[in-house]
Amino acid sequence: MSNVIVITGASSGFGALTARALADAGHTVYAGMRETADRNAPRVREAAAYSEEHGVDLRAVELDVSSQASVDAAVAAVEAGHGRVDVLVHNAGHMVTGPAEAFTPEQLAELYDVNVLSTQRVNRAVLPGMRRRGEGLVLWVSSSSVKGGTPPYLAPYFAAKAGMDSLAVSYAAELARWGVETSIVVPGSFTSGTDHFAHSGHPADTAVEAEYGERYPGLVEQVAGKLAALAPENADVSLVSDEIARIVALPRGERPHRVHIDPVDDGSEEVSGVADRVRGEFLGRVGLDDLLTVRS
Ligand code: NDP
Repeated sequence: MSNVIVITGASSGFGALTARALADAGHTVYAGMRETADRNAPRVREAAAYSEEHGVDLRAVELDVSSQASVDAAVAAVEAGHGRVDVLVHNAGHMVTGPAEAFTPEQLAELYDVNVLSTQRVNRAVLPGMRRRGEGLVLWVSSSSVKGGTPPYLAPYFAAKAGMDSLAVSYAAELARWGVETSIVVPGSFTSGTDHFAHSGHPADTAVEAEYGERYPGLVEQVAGKLAALAPENADVSLVSDEIARIVALPRGERPHRVHIDPVDDGSEEVSGVADRVRGEFLGRVGLDDLLTVRS
């Protein structure tokens, strides 16, 4: 079945690959991007060229997840054209590296906005339509850092992704009786193949950062180097986009609550396994185990 799909942050990395994988699978895919008229205009042209060359339906749409007006306009345009959004992929995100203390509170708020509040903006635009129709899939691109081994100097990003993941878990239960499914996709670290590491932000308080630099010399390079070295040779970023395409293709009701794509294996799968089991058991104890699966 061909779905109408909206992906946030689809100008690069997992988002761009996922948009192409889903378009290849025969879906109508809206690749959400910000600044489509200027900075990301080349990405818009690349998406159009891909669509043309491969005979698929991949369209860029202006969608800045930091702006409710932009989100609303994008979703309204898709719904005006097709009457629905079948699948929403929360993929947009941003990372920062540096000692936690050197980031201003405003920087943390900004990062929380891009990684967490963004999903709330898009949900509030897309979910009314899904609930009305009694079907849909919301797919969240989380991070293994949420539960796995966490090296230092990534605190604001890890905290934000944990917030996003936590929101996803609660949404899953609250959407189940509406017939709207949730899948949480958990990539491990992919240090190349996306702009994630290359575009990471830095602390505003460079004086504090320098003080930490004396006590933890070369830490950023050490962590990045070790993470890259831990990744097996076949750890290609397409593992993530292929997995998302696989989940979308599954029959309704059979989509997994959570999947891990973590070639480095930082332990997240093991810890999440316990957390998700306990969640299921506790929902049972409070008489809400019907919320573990989607109502058909
Ligand atoms: P990229 O940096 O390549 O992709 C991030 C995307 O988010 C970009 O397209 C970027 O757009 C977009 N974005 C950022 N801010 C906004 C905004 N305000 N509005 C719209 N789009 C925005 O990195 P990845 O592909 O690696 O990251 C994708 C997701 O995967 C993120 O959520 C990340 O947290 C997650 N992830 C990544 C891992 C990795 O190791 N690579 C591991 C685990 C999770 P723009 O080009 O305009 O900046």
